[in-house]
Amino acid sequence: MSIFDILKQSNFKFKKNLGQNFITDKNILASICADSQVSKSDIVLEIGAGAGTLTLMLAQIAERVIAFEIDETLKPVLSEVLKDSNTAEIKYLNVLKASDEEISALTENRPFKVVANLPYYITAPLIMRFIESTLPVQSLTLTLQKEVAERITALPGSSEYGSITLAVKIFGDPQITRILKRDCFIPSPNVDSAVVHIKKRTTPIIVKDIAVLRKLIRAGFAMRRKTLVNNIATIFNVDKNSIKQDIGKLGFLQTVRGEDLSLEEYIKIADFLVDMNYATNH
Ligand code: SAM
Repeated sequence: MSIFDILKQSNFKFKKNLGQNFITDKNILASICADSQVSKSDIVLEIGAGAGTLTLMLAQIAERVIAFEIDETLKPVLSEVLKDSNTAEIKYLNVLKASDEEISALTENRPFKVVANLPYYITAPLIMRFIESTLPVQSLTLTLQKEVAERITALPGSSEYGSITLAVKIFGDPQITRILKRDCFIPSPNVDSAVVHIKKRTTPIIVKDIAVLRKLIRAGFAMRRKTLVNNIATIFNVDKNSIKQDIGKLGFLQTVRGEDLSLEEYIKIADFLVDMNYATNH
């Protein structure tokens, strides 16, 4: 039976509010699997199984696939699509409510790869949830709105560059592996998408206090039209004139803006804030 027949037979109704835009084309699904670099010894955590098309293909490659799905009306569809698979398992849960402990138990405390054609309405919280956790995430392969993919991979100084660019960079190296036009999805959304593969850094960044770095990045983009000095003075509650002098001594223009700085430069300033005890109450 084709996937369309299975959906029809189950009387499935697509829910726009859950970001249900499914991929059924086997060539596209195979390309996403290739981009994910999943192989037979891998544990995969899939977010949003949908009709199970990607789940099934991943399960044919990986050792195990654990897929979250919030919509229980997909049960008959997923049971049919995955009936012959003994490596795929669906958890009918809201991924944003699953604790690290629950995820560790499901993945048997082993490192795992995240693969998802993400529901658009939770893109940012979902990315942050995995890149800032202490879970042993090896990589993320995410189908996202093209615009978000461009923000994640943006360069300093560009209008797309933002706090999410740097948050992802702390975790790893993001690459856009392909663009998927809107007509690759059923139903078609009104934007194009891109697949982004984010591989975890082999050696973590060296920074004195990661929480201070994250706070500084938030400060850097808090008010885009303000200088970094102004934003640091407000967010860290320090004297503007002293921080102005310090930024100059560190080799930056006193008028520098958060969107002009690289991750390495943010690390340099964050370490300085720690050394000066400016960041004691973060
Ligand atoms: N993986 C399938 C595919 O590629 O065709 C479906 C992708 S569809 C874009 C996103 C799926 O995520 C939908 O099936 C939706 O019901 C599910 N979903 C939405 N919010 C979720 C949440 N908070 N937790 C788990 N699944 C969710």
